[in-house]
Amino acid sequence: MGLMMQQPLLISSLLRHAERHHGEQLVVSRRVEGDIHRYTYRDMASRSRRMAKALGSLGMEPGVRVGTLAWNGYRHLELYYAVSGSGAVLHTLNPRLHPDQLVWIAENAQDKVLCFDLNFLPLIEAVAPRLPGIDAFVLMTDRAHMPAQTSIPNLLCYEDLMAAQDDVFEWPEFDECMASSLCYTSGTTGNPKGVLYSHRSTLLHTYASALPDALNLSARDTILPVVPMFHVNAWGLPYSACMVGAKLVLPGPALDGASLYALMEAEGVTLSAGVPTVWQGLLAHTQGKGLRFSSMNRTIIGGSACPPAMMEAFEDQYGVQVLHVWGMTELSPLGTVGVLKTEQLASTRDQQRAVRSKQGRALFGIDMKIIDAQGAELPWDGEASGDLLVRGPWVLSSYVNDEGDSPLVKSEGQDWFPTGDVATIDPAGFMNITDRSKDVIKSGGEWIGSIDLENIAMAHPDVAMAACIAARHPKWDERPLLVVVRKPGAELSREQLLGFYEGKIAKWWTPDDVVFIDALPMGATGKILKHQLRERFGDFLMQPAERPTVG
Ligand code: ADP
Repeated sequence: MGLMMQQPLLISSLLRHAERHHGEQLVVSRRVEGDIHRYTYRDMASRSRRMAKALGSLGMEPGVRVGTLAWNGYRHLELYYAVSGSGAVLHTLNPRLHPDQLVWIAENAQDKVLCFDLNFLPLIEAVAPRLPGIDAFVLMTDRAHMPAQTSIPNLLCYEDLMAAQDDVFEWPEFDECMASSLCYTSGTTGNPKGVLYSHRSTLLHTYASALPDALNLSARDTILPVVPMFHVNAWGLPYSACMVGAKLVLPGPALDGASLYALMEAEGVTLSAGVPTVWQGLLAHTQGKGLRFSSMNRTIIGGSACPPAMMEAFEDQYGVQVLHVWGMTELSPLGTVGVLKTEQLASTRDQQRAVRSKQGRALFGIDMKIIDAQGAELPWDGEASGDLLVRGPWVLSSYVNDEGDSPLVKSEGQDWFPTGDVATIDPAGFMNITDRSKDVIKSGGEWIGSIDLENIAMAHPDVAMAACIAARHPKWDERPLLVVVRKPGAELSREQLLGFYEGKIAKWWTPDDVVFIDALPMGATGKILKHQLRERFGDFLMQPAERPTVG
């Protein structure tokens, strides 16, 4: 045995470190109540201890699941540490889900306490009667903002609970493999499934995600996680910011371009993180007004493929470097980051950008491979595409309440998690997702990747959003159909858009047709709901004479 100290990797240690070594560092939040709130890590640590005591007095024991329904803000952050640090399980619920789905998820998770932001009061009033398992509802606000009347029985006030406690509290020590937090997948491709993280998996993910060739986080950064704290722990940033001592800026519910831009400029944000749809709103705001970013130098884009046109806009127009990341709820979430190696630095800017547009290289801790339909491993030649498998200490081993069905597959004697993504891997180890297995277009026995086709459409100056789906075809089984939202005032035609594909891809990959609509259906985590588009337009190519006219 080695002769080193044996200390469990616990989430509370992140907060202890931030308080002791970065106590004066700031956490700034745009509050649901409307104003800007600022305090230090020292304040946050003290309040987290008080909240841990308060929740303990409500019966929160180790293992108990505490739900949150909240935007990115300091009270949510306190709960991240108060709940997990006490050995209970923080279950972040996604408020954008349908109320029926919320009820289902809270029941499935057996939540006992539910803490929620002020603006979700009407929602919780509507669903509270259907949540008999919840013993305590906590409104995350102060006494002045408590409703005079509510149908929620025994509604508790967060700041009252806080005020009743002092901050003398020792974080308990326990096994690092204990559950720390719970997040359900967004269910874009099926029913939501619960992913239960541990203290150990979270800490290892935090270390790896902060490395220079990952998110490159430091004490000199001011980080704005636009990605919600209810979506895979805001990609781990509430933990990694404490680990490195970065300033945190939390945007609350105001995720429109103007509000985000104002916050970035006012707080000197150096790094932000979000899904492409959010950045589209930000760019629409800045481009319209000729604005610049005076401090932001990096932005992390993931959750869906980052269109190369977006990378170009951030880098060429604004000098903001884009970090393209890939991950999943099941991976805590980070798996790969598109950061160059030395050997690529000699190549042209276009070649470098082509590499950085891929989903990227595996973090240490994540192993990956691609396999064919028979399960044989495919070469890393950047050409062969197959099902992407991953394994590692922050990859899930089974879902919550999973009745014994393992989601893992065996490959060469080892357990791997099948991601449901279809990808290539090049000789330098850069993985490129060509599609989700359910979205692949199978044309005459050949596969066409929808992401490439979407990226080309998104590069057209008149296109606001584009999705490419497999439409049934009488001769080829399936052919690509583009569904497009034009930019306001643009008069782009089908012929113009299809002409834009010429010379950019093999001719047979060109979509068969284009449907223009007003808005694409979006899921709760900002992803396009392609299955809805397939339901609506799946037969579009079957009877050309009777095609529905779409506005
Ligand atoms: P859900 O699977 O329910 O949508 P997740 O948020 O966990 O919830 O989504 C993970 C999936 O999102 C990945 O399997 C992949 O298909 C997609 N994804 C995430 N990041 C990227 C990216 N950078 N490029 C392409 N697809 C991505």
